[in-house]
Amino acid sequence: MTTTKKAVQLPVLERSRRNYDRLRTCRRCGKYTILPGESCPNCGRARLVPVMERARSRARRKMLNEILFTVLLIIIAILLAQDMTQIAIAAGTGLILLALLVLVQRRMTGRETLRQLSRMFRYDHATIHDGLVHDQSTGVETVRSGKDVEGYHILRQTAVLVRNDRLRLALLSLLQNFRLRSDMDLELESLITRDFDPLVADYIGEIARLKRDMIKDRAIRYIIANEPRILEMENGWNILISVASAAVRMKRYVTMYQGFIRRYARFLPRERFVRLYHVVHSDPALQSEVLGQDMESIRAELYPSDPAFEPDAAGAERP
Ligand SMILES: [Zn+2]
Repeated sequence: MTTTKKAVQLPVLERSRRNYDRLRTCRRCGKYTILPGESCPNCGRARLVPVMERARSRARRKMLNEILFTVLLIIIAILLAQDMTQIAIAAGTGLILLALLVLVQRRMTGRETLRQLSRMFRYDHATIHDGLVHDQSTGVETVRSGKDVEGYHILRQTAVLVRNDRLRLALLSLLQNFRLRSDMDLELESLITRDFDPLVADYIGEIARLKRDMIKDRAIRYIIANEPRILEMENGWNILISVASAAVRMKRYVTMYQGFIRRYARFLPRERFVRLYHVVHSDPALQSEVLGQDMESIRAELYPSDPAFEPDAAGAERP
C-alpha cells in the first residue's frame, strides 16, 4: 500500500437494544434525528424525545381519551335516568365498566405503545427519512471540513438505521484512511455490500489480519463469490490468504468452504497450515476428501520433518 494511513482514535458506538432506540423526534417541529445532542437540528429547541417515549405518551393520551369517553357515557346515562333505581343502575354498571376498562388498559399499555410506534413509523416514514438524510449530510459536511473521524462517527450512527451500499462505501472509504487496530470498535458484516467493490475486499482482508474472529460466513462467501476480481487487485492475493488463514480457525468453515481452503492451503503461513492440518486430521470425513490428500502432499513437500504435525501437537495450536 502506498497511501499513508492516519493514526486515529475511533469513538465507540454505543449499542442499543433495538436499532430505533436512538431515534428521537422533536416535540416542537416533529422532525427526527438519530444523532445525539441537546437541540433539534431543525428548529434548535431542546425538545427532542426518544421515539419510544413519544409512542408511550401517545398511548397514554389515547387511553385517557377512552376513559373520558366512558365517563361521558355514564354521565349521559345518569342524566337520562327516570328515577332513583335507574340512576343507581346506571352509576353502578358505569363504575364497573370503568374499572374493567382501566384494568384492561393497564395490561395493554405495552402493546398499545408498540402500536403507536409502528403508526409513527408508518405515517412519518418520509419525515424520518428526511431526518436521517439531514443527519447524513451533517456527517458529510463534517468530513469535508477536515474532521474525518467525527464525520465517520456521525455517518456510522446513521448507518444503524440506514442500510444502503452508498453509505457503506462512504464509511469504508473513510476507514481506508485510518490505521486500524485490533482494539478498535470495528464492524464487518454491516459494511459488506451487495455488489462487489474493491473497498469491501480490502476491508475484509484487513479485518482478517486484525481480528480473525470477525471473519464469518458472510465475509468468506463474499470473498469466494468475487475471487477472480480480487485476484486482479494489487493486494488481492494477500486478501485471499488472510481470509483463508482466518477461516481455518473453525472446522465448520473448513468443511463448508473446502474448495476455497484447498486453493490457498499451500500458501498459508506455517502456523495456519499446522492448524488446518490438525483440523482435517481430526475428522475422518474431511480426511477422505481431496483436501485430506492435499494435506499430506503439502506437508511432505514443505514441512518434511516438522514436529508440529505430529498428532500429539494438535492441542498446542491456537484456533
Ligand atoms: Zn425541532
